[in-house]
Amino acid sequence: MSTNLNGKIAFINGGSRGIGAAIARRLARDGATVAITYHASAIAAEALVAEIEAGGGKALAVQADAADAVTLTRAIDSVADRFGRLDILVNNAGILRLGPVEEFALEDFDRTVAVNVRSVFVAAQAAARHMGDGGRIINISSTNALRMPFAGGAVYAMSKSALTGLAKGLARDLGPRGITVNNVQPGPIDTDMNPADGAMAPSMHGFMALPRHGRADEVAAMVAYLAGAEAAFVTGADLLIDGGFAA
Ligand code: NAD
Repeated sequence: MSTNLNGKIAFINGGSRGIGAAIARRLARDGATVAITYHASAIAAEALVAEIEAGGGKALAVQADAADAVTLTRAIDSVADRFGRLDILVNNAGILRLGPVEEFALEDFDRTVAVNVRSVFVAAQAAARHMGDGGRIINISSTNALRMPFAGGAVYAMSKSALTGLAKGLARDLGPRGITVNNVQPGPIDTDMNPADGAMAPSMHGFMALPRHGRADEVAAMVAYLAGAEAAFVTGADLLIDGGFAA
């Protein structure tokens, strides 16, 4: 299966590994030119760009710390200026800071909000200035917006549930311009953040309807659907892809 994204320009905030890299591969395979951001090291991002180009796709890597509104806005502006517009924004950058409430550092609270929430608004704001009818904003939220069965995850859960209200408000404001805004809520996905052989995996699988970790490419398929023309009437929505984690 593929979505026709030929000629589309996509910006993926946080695209060098894990779910973001799978989204970059998928959108490029479906015909989009993909710009991915990396935070610290360019190595993984440049390797992904080379891989996509070797497969006949079009990609480029841009440095941007999601927590730095000025740099992130500049990165989006530079991609839009280079290609003349922007069609798809994927807000994938995210961090998971866990810790007991009594000891949770406010620096970790602020960093989580800056990367997981504020960057979504900053990027949407910048991208919307460059988007026309058919624009797509897709945020990688989490099933933890609905269910947090683990100790120490209050701030992460808050950051992801904040995206539910944010997407609805953005959808309302950008809808008249033909731009849709949606959240994808993955369950456990096998990445560096949540490896399938990690210590918490058996307890998660124990209550899931489908007792396994999902794959990043399965999340990418849902993102490709939302990015495509067939999802034109989907907006302000949270789409679960969680193996029944929240069920
Ligand atoms: P990951 O740790 O492999 O990837 C996180 C991505 O965010 C990387 O590309 C990283 O470079 C980027 N990032 C982090 N801080 C950044 C910053 N300051 N500036 C720019 N980029 C930054 O984990 P992943 O599982 O691929 O996570 C991707 C997204 O999916 C996150 O938003 C995460 O919360 C969400 N998610 C993951 C799971 C899971 O089980 N893996 C489940 C639900 C939601």
